[in-house]
Amino acid sequence: MAKPKKIWENVYQIGGSNISHTSDCCIYLVGIGGNEGVMIDCGAGQSANKLVANMKSVGVDPQQLKALILTHCHIDHIGAANLFKERYNCRLIAHINDQDAIEGKDITKTAAQWYGVDYSPAKIDHILAGDFEKLSIGNVKFNCIHTPGHTPGSISVFCDIIDKRVLFGQDVHGPFDESFGSNISDWRASMQKLLDLEADILCEGHFGIYRPKEEVKKYIEGYLRRF
Ligand SMILES: [Zn+2]
Ligand SMILES: [Zn+2]
Repeated sequence: MAKPKKIWENVYQIGGSNISHTSDCCIYLVGIGGNEGVMIDCGAGQSANKLVANMKSVGVDPQQLKALILTHCHIDHIGAANLFKERYNCRLIAHINDQDAIEGKDITKTAAQWYGVDYSPAKIDHILAGDFEKLSIGNVKFNCIHTPGHTPGSISVFCDIIDKRVLFGQDVHGPFDESFGSNISDWRASMQKLLDLEADILCEGHFGIYRPKEEVKKYIEGYLRRF
């Protein structure tokens, strides 16, 4: 497995299929001052100890993990949420439209059976309900945008850090499936929202990092041409 990667000042990739576990999505960590941090997604659940070690290696104390933002309800993004919440008392943040899956009322929507893992449901502490919400956590502002399409409650998060706009777009590429509640026309509108941000760095849900601005645009437009 590869080592965690520094992407930008205070922005790291601490997990992914080649960093933490083959079932994991890309897992990002933002330092928010001192040894505090916010994690974006948390993998399928088998790699929590590895994520903790990687977090420490980039200078964030897991006891100071203030929040875990879940970009949507799929198991490869939320599997360790309950464990992190119980162990480190971090606040879970997610969108209301994926709440039933995350909280265990509709487990099929987590796609846990695709991965052959058991999902331990987690209670969301801060439910996002609108199109946009700006959360100040430590010294960083996390701009959460509702970007439905892949799932009804998918969100993307962007942070302006120094002179770069870092976009945690997560599952920009889909896939789309009726069982997820996917909606292509919603997804197209969501991708337009992401393009309008003119982000400098895209942190994708499975395919890693795209930069500079022109590459981010090219990547998102490439998928828009396909679907
Ligand atoms: Zn997904
Ligand atoms: Zn995914």
